[in-house]
Amino acid sequence: MSAVAQYRTYLCDYLEKNHNMKPKQFFQCINPQHTDNNPSMMFTDKYNICHCFSCGVSYDIFDVVGIDYHLDNFRDQLLKIQELYLGYVPVIKSTSNVDNKLYDYTNYFKRCVKNISKTNYLQQRGIPENLIKKYGIGYDEERSLVVFPINKNCYFARSTISKDKIKSRGKSDIWNKKYLEESNKNDLIYVTEGIIDSLSLEVIDPNIKTISINGVGNINQLVYELKNNNFNGTIVITFDNDGPGIQASKLLKKELTKINVNSFSNTLISSFGADECNDLNKALLIDKDRLKANYEYANTAYMRFLEKNNNKEEGIEIG
Ligand SMILES: [Zn+2]
Repeated sequence: MSAVAQYRTYLCDYLEKNHNMKPKQFFQCINPQHTDNNPSMMFTDKYNICHCFSCGVSYDIFDVVGIDYHLDNFRDQLLKIQELYLGYVPVIKSTSNVDNKLYDYTNYFKRCVKNISKTNYLQQRGIPENLIKKYGIGYDEERSLVVFPINKNCYFARSTISKDKIKSRGKSDIWNKKYLEESNKNDLIYVTEGIIDSLSLEVIDPNIKTISINGVGNINQLVYELKNNNFNGTIVITFDNDGPGIQASKLLKKELTKINVNSFSNTLISSFGADECNDLNKALLIDKDRLKANYEYANTAYMRFLEKNNNKEEGIEIG
């Protein structure tokens, strides 16, 4: 790796130290022209850049150092970085994005499925047997992880003894991505932050089409997949009813408008107090009937909207 390429990988460290960045979270946009009232910038280790979802800029470490120290030519920026990192090499945290290899987890999943009865993690979250079977959800006893296979090359897991959320090594994917690949204009796809939220929706409507992006930090992956698959259905964003969830909903809605994907944004849990619950799974546990009523009310309205819209396109008069 050339010295310049090496320095590019320092961006994460630089942002953490100088721009108060936390991994996988939005932080204040660095662009001096942009007054970023809600943090809209995110770092991606795939390209070692930070991108602002609001004003659209993308910066590498040379750009950022150039802005911070008012250095407008590359040579001065390079010298500054050398000075900042003189005798100090930051530890580059490897995340799954860096490793795009394919690993086959088929056998691991089989072992985990055999052990699923050794945990009651899913029962405690109101996820029934039929969904556990349908998705081949398993339990890794050694690591105390509930394992959600996404496809044979990728899984997502949650610790049963801590708050840890784990992504498999290698390329990561969206839960139920198939719904994006075979879309039609009558499709209504519910996007959630986490798999447990998607499963909670499936408990109240077994016919729902729901996908999960596994963390609000992955909205750009969703936008990429929608574009890539020429998605022509409608998205309902049902992220958590908390600060990061609300902010991510706004940003995602903006990105969807840019790529001409119709969307609605609805937590489905606004009738629950914010102190009572902020995600779909908690709502399911607190009051399943109320969550179901909220969902059915919203879903009916969206379906009616789609029907009207699609009929209009086909030139059918509706009375
Ligand atoms: Zn910006």
